[in-house]
Amino acid sequence: MKSETKSKALYDRAVKLIPGGVNSPVRACRSVGRNPIFIDRAQGCRIFDADGNEFIDFVGSWGPMMLGHRHGSVMAAIEKVLERGVSFGAPVDLEVEMAEMICNAVSSVEMVRMVNSGTEATMSAIRAARAYTGRDVLVKFDGCYHGHADTLLVAAGSGVATLNIAGSPGVPEATIRHTVSLPYNDIPAFKKLMAEKGKTVAAVIVEPVAGNMGLVPPDPEFLHELRSETQKHQCVLIFDEVMTGFRLAYGGAQALYQISPDLTCFGKIVGGGLPVGAYGGKQEIMAQIAPEGPVYQAGTLSGNPLAMAAGLATLKELQQPGFYESVEEKSDRLSSGILRIAERIGIPLSVNRVGSMMSIFFTDRVVKNFEDAKTSNLEVFSAYYNKMLEKGIYLPPSQFEALFVSSAHEIADIDLFLAAAEAVLPELIK
Ligand SMILES: *Cc1c(COP(=O)(O)O)cnc(C)c1O
Repeated sequence: MKSETKSKALYDRAVKLIPGGVNSPVRACRSVGRNPIFIDRAQGCRIFDADGNEFIDFVGSWGPMMLGHRHGSVMAAIEKVLERGVSFGAPVDLEVEMAEMICNAVSSVEMVRMVNSGTEATMSAIRAARAYTGRDVLVKFDGCYHGHADTLLVAAGSGVATLNIAGSPGVPEATIRHTVSLPYNDIPAFKKLMAEKGKTVAAVIVEPVAGNMGLVPPDPEFLHELRSETQKHQCVLIFDEVMTGFRLAYGGAQALYQISPDLTCFGKIVGGGLPVGAYGGKQEIMAQIAPEGPVYQAGTLSGNPLAMAAGLATLKELQQPGFYESVEEKSDRLSSGILRIAERIGIPLSVNRVGSMMSIFFTDRVVKNFEDAKTSNLEVFSAYYNKMLEKGIYLPPSQFEALFVSSAHEIADIDLFLAAAEAVLPELIK
C-alpha cells in the first residue's frame, strides 16, 4: 500500500462521532490490529480506497455483490428507477415482480414480505413462528448469526465472537430466557433437547450453511434431522439464508441440500447491494402477517423501488445458464490452490468451502462447529490478513467470516490471490 493518510484522517473524524468510527463493528478491523480503510469506489472485483490503493475484493460487501461492483444491468436498473422517484411508501410493480421472483426461485416460499435488512427478516420470521405455534422457545446454534435482534444475541458468532463479547449487555435476561443455543452439527444434542422440550419449541433457526463463524458446512444428516424433528414436534423450521440465498444455488442452500424449511429469511444478494431483507414461506404461516392476519410487522421503506430494482436486476443475471458453475470453478481453483500451497510449505490450516463461500482457518482441526473454529490461531490470522492486504488482496478482517468469490473475479484474479498467498504463507511460520 502506498499510503493510508486519507483513511487515517477520515477515521480520526469518524471516531469522534460514530461509535468506533464505523456503522457496523467488524469493519473497524480491531481483531486484525489496524485502523479501517475507507473505500472510495469499486468496479467489478476491484475496490479502491480513499488514498487510491487498489485491491481485489473478496468481501463483496459481505455477500451482496455476487456480480461484483457496478454491474452494468444493475446500474441501468437503478438509473431507470431514478427517473420515477426513490420512495413512495405505496405499492409499486417492482415489489410484485420481486415476490414472484423469490417464490419462483425457492419452492418452499409461497408468500413473502420484504423488509430492510436481514436482522428484520429473522426477527419477523420468529415473531410469525411464535404466533403460529403459540409457543415461545427458540432454538439456535452456537456460532450462527441471525442479525442483532435481542432474542438472537446468544452465542452469535462473527462480530460478537471477534469482539469477544458473550452475548451483549443491554439484552434483558427475560428476553433470552426462551432462547436455547446448541452446538452446530451436533445431532445427539439436538435430539435430546427436542425429546425434552420439543412441545414448547416455537422455532428452530439455522444457517443451513454457516457463514458467520467462518464458513462451516452442515453435515447433511444434521439438516435432515432438523427437518424431521421439527415436523415431529410441529415446530417451525426457519432457514436463515440471508447469506446463502441465491449464492450457493439460485434456490439457495435448501435447493443444494434438498430440504424444505417452513420459513426462509433472505437479505444481501436479493437487494443487489441496497439495504434489503425478506422473509417468506408456507402460506398458512405468512397469512398471519398484518394486514392479512394479526401479527404486526411494518416498514416505512420496505419494498423500496431502488432496492427492488437493484435486486431484480441481480437475480435476473443469476439465471444465466452456467452462472453458478462458472463461479464455483473459480472458487474451487482458489480453495484447492491454497491447500496445495499450505501442504507444500507445511503450515497447518483448514479450508472450508461451499460454492463461492470459503474460509481458511489457521488450525489443524477439521472445522465442523464454533468450538473447532475457535481453535484457530488468531495471531497468525491477523498477520495473514495484514500481509495479504499489503499485496492487494482485500479480505474479511476476521477469522470468523467467510470470503466471497463473485462472477466479476476472473481466473487471473484468483491466481493473483494464490500468488500473494504463496509469498505470505511461508512468512507466517517463521
Ligand atoms: C448478514 C446476516 C444477517 C443480518 O443481516 P443484516 O442485513 O446485516 O441485518 C442475518 N443472518 C445471516 C445468516 C447473515 O449472514
